[in-house]
Amino acid sequence: MATYKCFSCNKVINEAQIKKRVRCLYCGSKIIFKQRTTSTNVKAR
Ligand SMILES: [Zn+2]
Repeated sequence: MATYKCFSCNKVINEAQIKKRVRCLYCGSKIIFKQRTTSTNVKAR
């Protein structure tokens, strides 16, 4: 399952939650981007 992350409040939202409306559930922002949880190759130290 894909997850989305809000640019405004940094909340992670599941794909099923925003299936109908692409908006943040917490702040109502439409600026969210898709986040892949499969690839954990990014080194963020
Ligand atoms: Zn938000």
